[in-house]
Amino acid sequence: MASENNVTTESYFPDGMPLPAPMPDGLDAPFWEGARSHTLLVQRCNPCGTFQFGPEWICHKCRSNDIGWARCSGRGKIYAFERVWHPVHKALRDKGPYLVALVELPDVGNVRMVGNLLGDPQQDVAIGDAVEVVWEDHQDVTLVQWRRLPVK
Ligand SMILES: [Zn+2]
Repeated sequence: MASENNVTTESYFPDGMPLPAPMPDGLDAPFWEGARSHTLLVQRCNPCGTFQFGPEWICHKCRSNDIGWARCSGRGKIYAFERVWHPVHKALRDKGPYLVALVELPDVGNVRMVGNLLGDPQQDVAIGDAVEVVWEDHQDVTLVQWRRLPVK
């Protein structure tokens, strides 16, 4: 379980960059509610137990629409990453480089989440590096960010 050391109120997003937000149809509402209380949730199919993320209305394995949510430890490993040098939004014009990671979560069926990798954007990063969640609290939403754990 993530400790309160894993909380930041410092925004990784520059002014002018819209924050991610829940979808209006409510499909991902449990994910965002979990994040608000610093609990990382992914979907788990109730009949067959398959984990999935991002949220879907049906299970991608058995096609049941009886989908629940499961708690993840917030620890994972880097499956892939990208050091972004070219801004994809005008608010990022002078913010590069920055790191984007695809994080694999072994305790919830190895589902993967895309997120920002915090810290020095020029840090050495390797596939398989251990990471943990960092909660970025904003007024209306809490974002899921990631940081590398020290190599043992
Ligand atoms: Zn299923």
